[in-house]
Parts: sequence; structure tokens; C-alpha cells
Amino acid sequence: MIHGDELRLLRDALGRLAEGSAHLPACKAEFDADRAAEVLDRVARRMQDNYPYHHPLYAGQMLKPPDPVARIAYALSLWVNPNNHALDGGRASSAMEKECVAGLGRLFGWEAPLGHLAGGGTVANLEALWVAGTLHPGKRILASDQAHYTHSRLSAVLGLPFTPVRSDDAGRMDTAHLAELLDEGDVGTVVATMGTTGFGAVDPLPAILDLARDAGARVHADAAYGGYFRLASTLGPGTRAAFERLGDVDSIVVDPHKHGLQPYGCGCVLFRDPAVGALYKHDSPYTYFSSAELHLGEISLECSRAGAAAVALWATMQMYPLLPNGEFAARLDRSLDAARAMHTALAATELYRPLLAPELDIVVYAVRRDTASASSSAARSVFRDAAEQDLHLALIDVPIALVQRAEPGMAADAGTVSCLRSVLMKPEQVDWVDRIVAILASAARRAPA
Ligand SMILES: *Cc1c(COP(=O)(O)O)cnc(C)c1O
Repeated sequence: MIHGDELRLLRDALGRLAEGSAHLPACKAEFDADRAAEVLDRVARRMQDNYPYHHPLYAGQMLKPPDPVARIAYALSLWVNPNNHALDGGRASSAMEKECVAGLGRLFGWEAPLGHLAGGGTVANLEALWVAGTLHPGKRILASDQAHYTHSRLSAVLGLPFTPVRSDDAGRMDTAHLAELLDEGDVGTVVATMGTTGFGAVDPLPAILDLARDAGARVHADAAYGGYFRLASTLGPGTRAAFERLGDVDSIVVDPHKHGLQPYGCGCVLFRDPAVGALYKHDSPYTYFSSAELHLGEISLECSRAGAAAVALWATMQMYPLLPNGEFAARLDRSLDAARAMHTALAATELYRPLLAPELDIVVYAVRRDTASASSSAARSVFRDAAEQDLHLALIDVPIALVQRAEPGMAADAGTVSCLRSVLMKPEQVDWVDRIVAILASAARRAPA
């Protein structure tokens, strides 16, 4: 779990950091190391009660361990504890954040977007929808029924009407339904999901852009999960075409704490038109006195934010530049390979029916049974049984119609089917697929008929 070098690297970097304030008169904060040692021992024991997220046999939810360089840079930063609300609280880390945001903008083809890091994808999406609603007051927000549930909830928070757009057989936004809804007239913004949370499906952005533009609506891309896959080299043609058009949307959310190797607390919102910065204008007398330069708090809804998140992301982007054909991209390709291999291997067992061919690195699969309810109870049994063999999965409720497309013979004695879901975010999982599928096969055989 811990690389032998991590603590040495942290100690060395802390030594270098301390040189910056070595000229100050000596001072000492009180600290009782013996009592802390006792408390930390209890903390470590408590923290054993987690799934082993770092291990390839954790093949459940969207959880990816931060890269060691991110973890060390974050920890290093905590000795300063910068606050990226204002330059007063985090000069160095605010500069690093601006460089990170520029780098993420370039990932999508934007040279000078307005943007900043955020606590996560939810707040980042809140900001994008807030700007959308300010520019199109009272108008409707559309997102597919597979979009993250946050969009309908955030629309309610913002007092904007929200309508779900149907998804098609591939879990992508149904553009025929989108066209119908746009014809009704009062749509302000269409949210395209670039990698749905459930299936990793990528909405057909080229068609969405054409339709939305004709209707005078904004387009926001929720690429919280999938944004980094723009760098991958083995996407299917439709998926690639969607990612190629990302630069044409009005705003993008991407979560470095999903696929960007970051600790939690790192989302990002980007606006193509920097003029939206004017919408954030406020006249707080409290904060910005140190310079005429941009304080990140002037263009964000959140106030205090961890400067450490920017420091960690900056370190990671130095170590793994966001280049097509680079090391970072190659890792994403391995995750894609892992998902495709698992999809193929599961189908070959005859014990499972994988539902959609994975567009990204998420595999959803039903246990083959005669009825929806039997399949659901078998899935719950597999979930528990696999965990006993140290394989950790996730469950997802899927509408019966979607399951029947893969398994037409399954009787619809329930509206939804509990299926298993594996998000293969760790590139090394590509070498574990056989082992994962072997455990799944044994668990399915033991599950109730
Ligand atoms: C994870 C996710 C979110 C929410 O982001 P958080 O970082 O969890 O707040 C929003 N949209 C999509 C598509 C996501 O995958």
C-alpha cells in the first residue's frame, strides 16, 4: 500500500520547504507527540475498516488511488496549509492552480478559458449551471436520464426547471427526444455527459451541439468522470468523435479526483468565454487587498478551498503531462483494455450477461436467471460471496428493458434488475481480469438459482 520511498521523499521535500522560512526567529507550537502517537494508533486501527481501494481486486465504485506524487505533494502542502480563496492565503498554490487550469483547458483545446478548481464535480457543475441559469434566466435545463442525479437536484437548488432526456440502447442521450424537447422552446442549457456514472456511456456531442445551437441553447459538458479519456488512443469512433467536439461547448466540468490521480477535493470547472467572470462580481470588503492580480475567489462560488489540491495536481501534471501518447494516456488505454477484456470474458462464461459494450472503463453485468427478481437476488449473493474472496464489486439497479436487450429471455417480474458493476480505473487491473472473472464465475455458481 505504501511505496518504500514515499516517506523519504516527503521528508526531503519538507526539508527544502523549511528553508524558505529558515530566516525567521525560532518559534515553537505546542505538541505532545506521545499522546498523538496513542491517538494515531487508534486512528490507524479505525481506518482498517475500509475496502482495499488501492488493490486491483477492488473492482467496484469509482475509486482510484491518488498517485504517490500527488499524495506527497498534498502532504507537503499541508505544512503550509494554503487557502486558494485569495492570494493572501495561498500565493504559490494559486499560481499553481492557474497553471493547472490552463493545462486542463488545453486538454480540451481551449487556450484561455476562465476556470478554477473546486471541491468536486458537484460544486463545479453547480457553478456551470448557475452561470447557465444567469445567462438564460428561468429557462429549462436538459440532461439525459443517465446523467448524474446532481443535475436535477442542482437545477432545483437554482430554481430552474429540469427535464430528463431519454437515453437510447447504448445508454447515450436520445437525440430524437432531445430534438422534440428543444422544439418546445424554453430550453436554456443542454447537459451532455461525457461518461455516465452508471455505464460510462458518452453522449453524442456532435449531434447535441448541432441541435442545441439551432435552438439557441447553451451546452454544458459534464466530463467529471470521462474528461481525461480525450487523451486515450483506443476509443471507439463515435466516442472519439464526441470527445473531439468538447472544445465547442460552453462549459466543461472535469474531476481530477476521478481519473486525474488526485486525492478527494479536486474538481474543475472551465468556461470557454472568460467574460462570464463578470457574473461573479461581488464587493466583499474582507478579502482581496494584497494585489491587483486575480484572486481565485473572485471567480468562484466557494470561498476557502484547499490550496493543497492545486499543489498535488500541479505535481501530477509535471510528472505525467497531459499528452496524447504519453504515459498518462497509456494508463487510460490500459483501463479501456481491462474493461473490454472483462466484458468479453464475462460473456464467454455463460453465467453473466454484460449489458452494454463498455465505451470507457465501466462494465455492468447481470447474473443470468429466468426472472428479474431471481437475477437480482443472485447479484446480491455474488456481491457478498465475492467480497468474502476479497473481490469487491458495486451494485446498480438497471431498468428491466435494458437488461432484456442483452438477455431477452429474462421475465420481467420486476421493473428493475440489480446488476453488478465494476469500474476498472486502475490500469494494472488489465492483468487481473482472469482472476476477477474466475472469482465471479465461482460466486455465480454458488448463487441461488
Ligand atoms: C462523479 C460525478 C459527478 C459528481 O462529482 P463529485 O466529484 O462526486 O462531486 C458528477 N457527474 C458525473 C458524470 C460524475 O461521474
